[in-house]
Amino acid sequence: MYFEGRVAGSPMGRLECRKTGLSMVDNVTDPKQADLIAAFSRGFDDPIVATAIHDGHALRTGLADLFAVSEPDRLREEDPFTSHWARVASTHIVGLRSRFEVDLNRPREKAVYLVPADAWGIEVWKDRPPDAVVAQSLSEYDAFYREVGSLLREVEQKFGRFVVLDLHSYNHRREGPTGPVADPFENPEVNVGTGTMHQRWRSVCDGFIDRLRAFDFLGGHLDVRENVKFRGGHFSQWIHQNFPDSGCVLAVEFKKFFMDEWTGEPDPAKVDAIEQALKSTIPGLVQGL
Ligand SMILES: [Zn+2]
Repeated sequence: MYFEGRVAGSPMGRLECRKTGLSMVDNVTDPKQADLIAAFSRGFDDPIVATAIHDGHALRTGLADLFAVSEPDRLREEDPFTSHWARVASTHIVGLRSRFEVDLNRPREKAVYLVPADAWGIEVWKDRPPDAVVAQSLSEYDAFYREVGSLLREVEQKFGRFVVLDLHSYNHRREGPTGPVADPFENPEVNVGTGTMHQRWRSVCDGFIDRLRAFDFLGGHLDVRENVKFRGGHFSQWIHQNFPDSGCVLAVEFKKFFMDEWTGEPDPAKVDAIEQALKSTIPGLVQGL
């Protein structure tokens, strides 16, 4: 894995970096990466781009002192291990900063959480953040989207059309570590969000879901359903708006059945099986375009 394009944030030194094995992004502790909001890998082996924009956990210097939210509470709402899966495509984008700094999957005006209602009821800040702090986060957001546009234009020029696998994960034990799991009927193991996808991509999406369901997942099959829990966020909407004829985005949310969402501990066999399941869909996606 290598990095070409980089989005620089503010000048800063120390970052809080997660060191939890599988979820570590390659080279994230490299000093050259220290001020990045996201890493962009331009492999261009095929017209598939995988993204993990909520995997980031780090904060720019100074922000942690302003935060009321604890580090474990932040981690629980982030999408650990999705950067591991993003490597199924040689072209991939991995978020390196916490969504609590700036949420790349929300519209710009809602990208910085200001009140608990923006963040699952969590009190994010000790006091309302200074305007300069919010402005810095939004400039990182703008830089991220400029670089996404640049990368996708390159993919478009090389291949004509492309698929983005917009990878996420979601909680299903919100009532506590020993509380009940959320109703499986309304919380599929894999939710494919296509709320802003044009119907011209219908067969690409159906093929993806069929292959994910057919994959031998540790002796069983994944429960994969479309638009049950989520319909996709701002990131997929932005790509569909800016690449209306060439870009198909599938917003893929994995329920956190592959980890303990309260301790952050993964089940390595399941994390690996999900990676293999995603990998199994790539040839069909390429053919279906
Ligand atoms: Zn997410």
